[in-house]
Parts: sequence; structure tokens; C-alpha cells
Amino acid sequence: MTSSTWSLVVHGGSGVIDRADLKPEQDRAYRAALAKALEAGAAVLRRGDIALDAVEAAIHVLEDDPLFNAGRGAVFTADGRNELDAAIMDGATLEAGAVAGVTRVRNPISAARAVMARSPHVLLMGSGADAFAAAEGLTRVDPSYFFVERRWRALEKQLLREGLTVPPRPAGAAIDESHAALAHDEGKRGTVGVVARDVRANVAAGTSTGGTTGKRWGRVGDSPLIGAGTYASNRSAAVSGTGEGEYFIRLGVAREICALVELKGLSLQAAVDAVIQTDLSALGGQGGVIAVAPDGQMAWSFNTSGMYRARLAEGGAPQVAIYKDEP
Ligand code: ASP
Repeated sequence: MTSSTWSLVVHGGSGVIDRADLKPEQDRAYRAALAKALEAGAAVLRRGDIALDAVEAAIHVLEDDPLFNAGRGAVFTADGRNELDAAIMDGATLEAGAVAGVTRVRNPISAARAVMARSPHVLLMGSGADAFAAAEGLTRVDPSYFFVERRWRALEKQLLREGLTVPPRPAGAAIDESHAALAHDEGKRGTVGVVARDVRANVAAGTSTGGTTGKRWGRVGDSPLIGAGTYASNRSAAVSGTGEGEYFIRLGVAREICALVELKGLSLQAAVDAVIQTDLSALGGQGGVIAVAPDGQMAWSFNTSGMYRARLAEGGAPQVAIYKDEP
């Protein structure tokens, strides 16, 4: 059954997010941010534009919002840097682009899209990826743009716990408490992702993250790896993940979900539950995914106590949720 309606699902990370931990104003701030991202993507789909554009537009909102671990507000590496990863994939063509460890491009998801659209490659890393983004004319920022005080505190706490030395504060980083009161420390995570299905029944997926707090040695997670944290195919679904990247890589989570739909004929909800509730849990990993299929099915699944999430289909009402006990 294929209809000419669009659908869109957004996540802002999974983790330890308990109802008792969030103050009412924090709860409201996260819901408002998710609703804003949802609306940015919906506006694109409503005018009949492509799923890829909706994914990029919605992710921009979340990357620019310091509440989330992507773009501004990203977590810090053990040596006090923000190293950002992102990927985007077009289900209609199987074209994909990704960047890992970028430090200067304001919106890593746009760098990933530029890699897809205007380079012969799929994944670029580090200073080369930043140079490519700059050559593509994407907005470049000083690394201190990404700095958010509460993420720095989280790094200090973690390094002390691990008995590691706290690096000096990054040059140019001002003490800014303005977002600290609204933000919740969801543990190490808070990645963002968007999946969309446009009116021509094409699907696309994108994911953007700062990775995990205190990451070392050039660690790269699942988000920029096509098939692990991000995948899209019109033959099955578009998927974006959030959680302990090492487990997502080992399971090939996003591609595995698509394979269950395409090869085994599972419904989208059954496929995401099989991989997250059964496979990921059995391996000891934590996290969640959002997904959308070319026929308009939307699904999400997570094995953590919460996942920031929202969805909307044409003609429906937006659904925004945080905790496990919400529908
Ligand atoms: N999956 C991300 C990573 O491992 C982290 C997250 O989802 O919060 O880099």
C-alpha cells in the first residue's frame, strides 16, 4: 500500500532519561526542540520537496540547539575537543555521504550531504573532511562555537572518575551557564537523527553526533558508518540509530533492520524491535532507532529508559515523547 502522503520521525538521543530526573521546564525545553525540528522537516515535505531535504533541514535545527549532542552542544573528547560525526543516505539511489571527526564545519550533516553529492567518496575524516566542507562553501566556525559548559563539566567528571587528567579549557571558550538549567545529562549520549518519506515514496536517513564523552584515540562511532547507525533503501526503510556505537557497528543495526524488512518481510515495527530489543539487548548494548518505510510505516524502538523522539505523518497530529511509558 503506497499513498502520496509524507511521514517524518526525529530522535534526539537515547539514554538514561527518567521522568523523575527531568524538571518540568527541562521536559518542556526538550519537547519544544523536538517539535521545532519536526516542523522544520515537515515544512519541506509539505511543499513536496524531497526526503533528503527534510532530513537535512530537521537535523540543522537539532545541530544548532545546544541541548543535543550534535553540532553546538556536542560532547568532548578526552583531550577537550569536539569531534563531530554525521551521515546521510538517499533510499532512492543508495547514494550516501559521511564525515567523521570534523571540528570546524558548523553543520556536519551538510558536510555529509556534500560528500554524497559532490565527491566521488562516501566517508571523509578529520582535517581533510573539514577542508572539503570549506571548499564546498559550508559555514565554518571556530571550534569554540561548539563549546557548552555542561558538556565540559560532564567531561571533567568522567575523566576524574577514570583517573585521567583534565585538559585545559579550549581557547576562546567562555563560561556560559545559560543552557545548563534546561539541559539534562542523559549519560554519555544525545545524538540526533531524522528519517523521512516524501510524497513520491522515497525515503532518506541522517544522523549527526559528537560521539561519546571522553572518547579517545580518534574513536569513531556508528553514526557516520553506513549500515551501522544510518541506512536508507527504498526497498525496505530509512533508519537512524542512537546508543552505544560499538554495539551498533558490530550488529550492523541499520542495515540489519532493512534486511529483515526486505528479505524476511517483517513489518517495520517488528524489525526494529527484533534488532533493538532482542539482538542489541542480547549483546549487552544500549540504544534505540527510528525508522520509516516507503509505504509510510513509522517505527521506533529503544532499550534505554528514554529516547527523545517525535513523529508526524501528513494529516496527523505531531507526537512528541521522551520516556519509555509514553506511546
Ligand atoms: N551512537 C553514538 C556514538 O556511539 C552516540 C549516541 O548515540 O549518543 O557515537
